[in-house]
Amino acid sequence: MLAEKLHFEPYELPASLTSLREEVRNFLQEALQSHSPVHRSNSWDAYDPEFSARLGAKGWLGMTLPEQYGGHGRSAFERYVVVEECLAAGAPTGFHWVADRQSGPLIVRYGSETQKLEIIPKITTGKACFCIGMSEPNSGSDLASLQTRAERVTDGWVVNGTKVWTTHAHRAHYMIALFRTDSQSDSKHSGLSQFLIDMSKAEGITPRPIKDLTGRRHFNEVSFENALLPVDALVGEEGQGWKQVTEELAFERSGPERYLSCFVLLTKLIDVIKEDLSPATMARIGSQIAWVTTLRNMSISIAGLLHEGQDPALAASIVKDLGCQFEQGLPSLAQELAHLEPTLEGHGIDYQQVLGNLVQLAPSFSLRGGTPEIMRGIIARGLGVR
Ligand SMILES: Cc1cc2nc3c(=O)[nH]c(=O)nc-3n(C[C@H](O)[C@H](O)[C@H](O)COP(=O)(O)OP(=O)(O)OC[C@H]3O[C@@H](n4cnc5c(N)ncnc54)[C@H](O)[C@@H]3O)c2cc1C
Repeated sequence: MLAEKLHFEPYELPASLTSLREEVRNFLQEALQSHSPVHRSNSWDAYDPEFSARLGAKGWLGMTLPEQYGGHGRSAFERYVVVEECLAAGAPTGFHWVADRQSGPLIVRYGSETQKLEIIPKITTGKACFCIGMSEPNSGSDLASLQTRAERVTDGWVVNGTKVWTTHAHRAHYMIALFRTDSQSDSKHSGLSQFLIDMSKAEGITPRPIKDLTGRRHFNEVSFENALLPVDALVGEEGQGWKQVTEELAFERSGPERYLSCFVLLTKLIDVIKEDLSPATMARIGSQIAWVTTLRNMSISIAGLLHEGQDPALAASIVKDLGCQFEQGLPSLAQELAHLEPTLEGHGIDYQQVLGNLVQLAPSFSLRGGTPEIMRGIIARGLGVR
């Protein structure tokens, strides 16, 4: 029974995707030629509206979304190829990342017809940046305990409370937020609802950027002070927010970004040490390649689940947990094998700067998208052992 639940169907990417891969690779080679290795090592965090618009113009955003709303009706495998190539090359995908990965699919599944017609074309053309309003100062892992309230009034919803760690909130066009709409409900999981917020129109919403270890300001504390949202800001059904957000989180955790955040470092490491490879070093690199290849096969299997419309939550939590261990271990391995120190200064060689950047970023990999303990709880429940 356990083995059945733990089964990762070994999907092959269809051979017909080779030409798509080639096309994406050629495009990225040209588009990223002036991007430094350090910049590339920020990958799916790096914010670049121009790059996202170019990707949109190629038809590579919202690939799996329905054509009637401006999507491209392509398969999860095709999207996988585009995402994988972007991550491997260290393309700056931050502007469109959330919209393409989870907000678009969520709106298609639960949004009103008006929301779909208005928003999805902006996502597929790379013109809309979305942020995720889930975490709060006292509700991270235990998301269902959140306190920010949306109260129904005659002309809409009045929101009060605070979100935190909201990536790109200070420059996003939209936020999809989870609020408590019924504080009298029996359990903390009921009485929650999701809202689509147009950040350009919102009054009473103040994002305050927070500096991370690298000094960049990408995430925020966002306060809502009597912010009035229109009636039709609600996404899906009132009170069904927990079910909807759980599905959204499965999308958030299902992609290859959960083990490719440091891929630029791995390729740079091989470049730096390839002239001087002892058998012991080769064995260490070999085991990293075996690890990343296995994670890739598992991740393609998740694309297969998405392709078949199955729930990827259990498989995605396994890949996120294992992928995170892999990518958090890479900076220290890279430092040890190349005998080079990380640097934050402009004068180091590329490799040391990439290492310096990732040494600082890596601790956050196991927080964003859910911590290892939370992933293991989901895995245990999924396997029926908890
Ligand atoms: C780079 C980055 C970007 C982010 N972007 C966003 C964003 O855009 N939008 C958003 O909403 N959030 C965002 N987050 C927040 C992220 O989702 C939370 O940090 C994460 O869910 C953990 O919550 P917390 O920080 O409150 O930690 P806590 O929940 O307080 O956890 C602290 C520690 O306690 C452990 N723990 C907690 N509960 C349990 C339990 N039941 N059993 C065992 N151990 C437990 C955790 O595993 C962790 O080690 C981002 C975080 C980072 C680092």
